[in-house]
Amino acid sequence: MNCKESAVIVFLTSCVSLSSRNNINFLMGSWWPNLEDLYEADVPVYRFIQRPGDLVWLNTGTVHWVQAIGWCNNIAWNVGPLTAYQYKLAAERYEWNKLQSVKSIVPMIHLSWNMARNIKVSDSKLFQMIKYCLLRTLKQCQMLRELLQASGKELVWHGRTRDEPAHYCSICEVEVFALLFVTSESNSRKTYVVHCQDCARRGSSNLDNFVVLEQYKMDDLTQVYDQFTLAPSLPSSS
Ligand SMILES: [Zn+2]
Repeated sequence: MNCKESAVIVFLTSCVSLSSRNNINFLMGSWWPNLEDLYEADVPVYRFIQRPGDLVWLNTGTVHWVQAIGWCNNIAWNVGPLTAYQYKLAAERYEWNKLQSVKSIVPMIHLSWNMARNIKVSDSKLFQMIKYCLLRTLKQCQMLRELLQASGKELVWHGRTRDEPAHYCSICEVEVFALLFVTSESNSRKTYVVHCQDCARRGSSNLDNFVVLEQYKMDDLTQVYDQFTLAPSLPSSS
């Protein structure tokens, strides 16, 4: 990094209430806080100047602000180390976003199934959390399928293309996994405007105006679930 920036870093504690006191939405808004307010609320603050060549690593959930104090290039990466801690905080943020109706940039369900398919996990804590997420989504898919079938709603097999990204509800922006509710009109135009079940039913309680597209077979998901097992830890190289 070739930058000269002053950065203010604080912990999440109190920031949400402080920002809302200033009529700013913590998740969506842009907030440059008054440092005095933070000191008063006993929020620990680190403030420093990033010099050319300095790399600043911020841990998950660290609230931060950056301000240029001279000419600079601002380069930042979002990275997700494969650790139990990272996964836990990502899942918590994902759930909080849902409660706040804010879109999660990381689709945790899609990601968890991809991890189960593609990587070996030897950290038992991380493994258990991913497995639990798979179990919950598997159960949710099964219950939703049974509910739809019991009401006579037909599921239309759609499958997925390779590397197809995750889908989000076009109304509330929640991640939609495996069963996509698309408006009949967009289905015939093949533009597939995706809804979650709640938003679809709000517009059409018996889902008359919707087609339910099925992206995975239950057998496939069950097989991925069963085959995802704790990998033996790699022997240490030292
Ligand atoms: Zn929705």
